[in-house]
Amino acid sequence: MEIKVTPAQTNRIRPKDSDLGFGQVFTDHMFVMDYSEGDGWHDPRIEPYHDFSVSPAAMVFHYGQAIFEGLKAYKTPDNNICLFRPRDNFERMNRSAAGMCIPQIDIDFVMDAMKQLIRLEEKWIPQTLGTALYIRPTIIASDPFLGVRASFTYKFFIILSSVGAYYAEGLNPVKIWVSKDHVRAVRGGVGEFKTAGNYAASLIASEKAKKQGYAQVLWLDALERKYIEEVGAMNIFFLIGDELVTPNLTGSILPGITRYSVISLAKRWGMTISERQISIDEVFKAHEDGKLLEVFGSGTAAVISPVGEIRYGDKMILIGDGTPGEISMKFYNALTDIQYGKAEDTENWIEFIE
Ligand SMILES: *Cc1c(COP(=O)(O)O)cnc(C)c1O
Repeated sequence: MEIKVTPAQTNRIRPKDSDLGFGQVFTDHMFVMDYSEGDGWHDPRIEPYHDFSVSPAAMVFHYGQAIFEGLKAYKTPDNNICLFRPRDNFERMNRSAAGMCIPQIDIDFVMDAMKQLIRLEEKWIPQTLGTALYIRPTIIASDPFLGVRASFTYKFFIILSSVGAYYAEGLNPVKIWVSKDHVRAVRGGVGEFKTAGNYAASLIASEKAKKQGYAQVLWLDALERKYIEEVGAMNIFFLIGDELVTPNLTGSILPGITRYSVISLAKRWGMTISERQISIDEVFKAHEDGKLLEVFGSGTAAVISPVGEIRYGDKMILIGDGTPGEISMKFYNALTDIQYGKAEDTENWIEFIE
């Protein structure tokens, strides 16, 4: 399929790296293609960034049939553009698509389309450490129909956003709040897919946590409300003695690419890494025994996010001394050094855009 390119007539300039924030500054162009039952995915195009015109009856608005991905492009010191494990994102997108009755995409084709779009938007990639070009591939159901079924038509699009350093003042440990009353997802549901409804479902607990001064929600399993699942839009790791533990994927947890990357590095470094059930009680007990050394979240936006405090009902524990732990920093540095082209890509995670 030939991608039709319509250049934008604009000379907008990218804000200063320190003014970027996250997910607010969009670039000049976007990639779009449409799906219909007879034609499959068709009419791929790169167009000036613009608002869509869609029916208010479009199924995505009513029944939430929508999936997305999040990944980043980085500029290396020698001005190359690289992507971190991009194919893994599109493979996950196809798993999300299958789970939400959305048609599959051709991974090679969308990889090429994304690269072509990024090349066109090169000036929007900031270069200081911690900044990046955030990439948001999305698919929405577009049938104008008020009835519950899978849509027959869809829109796939990729938008790009120049993003600032997630930690403007360095890597400060975050405070997290364990949700007792609300759950994010249930085994057998759609928690393992990056689908819009999961985020809508998470808002009420997030609001409650924020009101109490906590940055993120730590989710427990929906059945027993005992086992840890993940935190906000990140996976979570606990360093207990010399064992690094992360919850095993049970179907209600989003399989993070950063999570897989942390597990691979931990193995390469000879650490004891377990993907297993871990209860909130075990975490508090480990803390009591002086064995809970570090806790951190992992995800594309923040890469590694050290946790400094966990509140669970009327119990609260502090982890570390208010600064990021040594192992959290080791993962953060190793991952960002690979992403920014400052260290050898020993795991073959980087894909350059020629
Ligand atoms: C995207 C996401 C993650 C992290 O996945 P990465 O691929 O590492 O960015 C974790 N949890 C949720 C709920 C997510 O949406």
